[in-house]
Amino acid sequence: MTAQSKFVISVHDLMHKPGNMRELDLKIDLDAPLGAGLAAVPKGGELDIELRLESVHEGIYVSGDVLTTAEGECSRCLDPVKVPLEVDFAELFAYSLEVEDDFLVVDEKIDLEQVIVDAVVLSLPFTPICSENCQGLCAQCGVKLDENPGHEHEAPIDSRFSELKKLSETEGQD
Ligand SMILES: [Zn+2]
Ligand SMILES: [Zn+2]
Repeated sequence: MTAQSKFVISVHDLMHKPGNMRELDLKIDLDAPLGAGLAAVPKGGELDIELRLESVHEGIYVSGDVLTTAEGECSRCLDPVKVPLEVDFAELFAYSLEVEDDFLVVDEKIDLEQVIVDAVVLSLPFTPICSENCQGLCAQCGVKLDENPGHEHEAPIDSRFSELKKLSETEGQD
């Protein structure tokens, strides 16, 4: 339960008091990374969350911003990159279940984990780059083109694929 409890907030003071609202800041250190692609917010990364909780007739309306930093590698040259993220979210936590995928207020508490995790994961870049001008790597030998201006090959090298093929055939025999 430790992972989830960081995202659970009591809304006792706002229950059934439409028109009342409260703002709070939440800082959460991640116990597990968010995201699994080329960029992710790493384990130990911090989510800086500004929250606004509003009491409405149906429940508690939550909106806010998450500030955090994703880390990953440049999709062109594979250098490490850091990508600052700012993500908005808004969700109603209802007192009773009327629509199947509603979020619910449970025991006068709301659990923001899924709302925040989804918002952050959906905003992660699929193809992070270290700079707009990154030239990436030579498709033939893998050197960094930014550091090797004018780099070129006399004739295509065609060994990499056959090397890989040999390797997988050897592994297959084990
Ligand atoms: Zn790059
Ligand atoms: Zn090359």
